[in-house]
Amino acid sequence: MSGEDLNTDTAADLAVEVTGLHKSFGPVEVLRGIDLEVNRGEVVCVIGPSGSGKSTLLRCVNVLEEPTSGTVVVDGVELTDPDVDIDAARTKIGMVFQSFNLFAHLNVLNNLTIAQRKVLKRTQAQAEATGLANLERVGLAGRERAMPSELSGGQQQRVAIARALSMDPDVMLFDEPTSALDPELVGDVLTVMRRLADEGMTMLVVTHEMQFAREVADKVLFMDAGVVVEQGPPEQVIGDPREERTRTFLRRVL
Ligand code: ADP
Ligand code: MG
Repeated sequence: MSGEDLNTDTAADLAVEVTGLHKSFGPVEVLRGIDLEVNRGEVVCVIGPSGSGKSTLLRCVNVLEEPTSGTVVVDGVELTDPDVDIDAARTKIGMVFQSFNLFAHLNVLNNLTIAQRKVLKRTQAQAEATGLANLERVGLAGRERAMPSELSGGQQQRVAIARALSMDPDVMLFDEPTSALDPELVGDVLTVMRRLADEGMTMLVVTHEMQFAREVADKVLFMDAGVVVEQGPPEQVIGDPREERTRTFLRRVL
């Protein structure tokens, strides 16, 4: 096998590759050189204090924010390349936010189908079939006619996950998907995310749910003040952190 073939194989395993990522807002440097790799089928959890840059990192991965410098490669496509069609590339990346962001005036089914039809140009029938299959996947079969306001926060978040899945993403980004939920609703959302992980979905998850990170993550990154302070398997980063800053953070959240 030639060296070129080897490189291709390595790239094929890498779903997300962030290199030397910097992001400033005006004079404030929020990300100060982040390197991050997510292999296909892996779950990577990002933990860290509020304001450390976790959301900005996720938003740079799907280029909702334009990095100041550095590269972001998703599925072998460099999103930071000015010649790349960002809209096309971004359809491969599903994003779930802390606030569910459902369209309040659309019922569940229309929330699930609208982007499939407008962005992927699927027919109504195709979009409905895909949407309903994903609604079942998040445990909400039969709720397709409900309005978002008729659902609990946890159910709304599961619809938001189904909506992202309906775009057939290669990677799912989650930004504190359970942080806005009442405690009793957190479990159902984490169960859905666990199932996705078991199915082999590639996931980059910002979370304060340490138990979830411990059990589901292949790799955990601890971020503070715009840098990755340490990263490794959860049993190391959460169970036996090397850095004092990580220990201080975990003492506060565990
Ligand atoms: P985290 O998600 O870890 O809480 P964020 O990425 O949201 O952190 O924010 C990191 C820092 O960047 C914070 O100080 C925040 O105020 C700042 N920040 C985030 N977005 C913007 C923006 N659009 N304009 C200016 N500052 C921002
Ligand atoms: Mg955040």
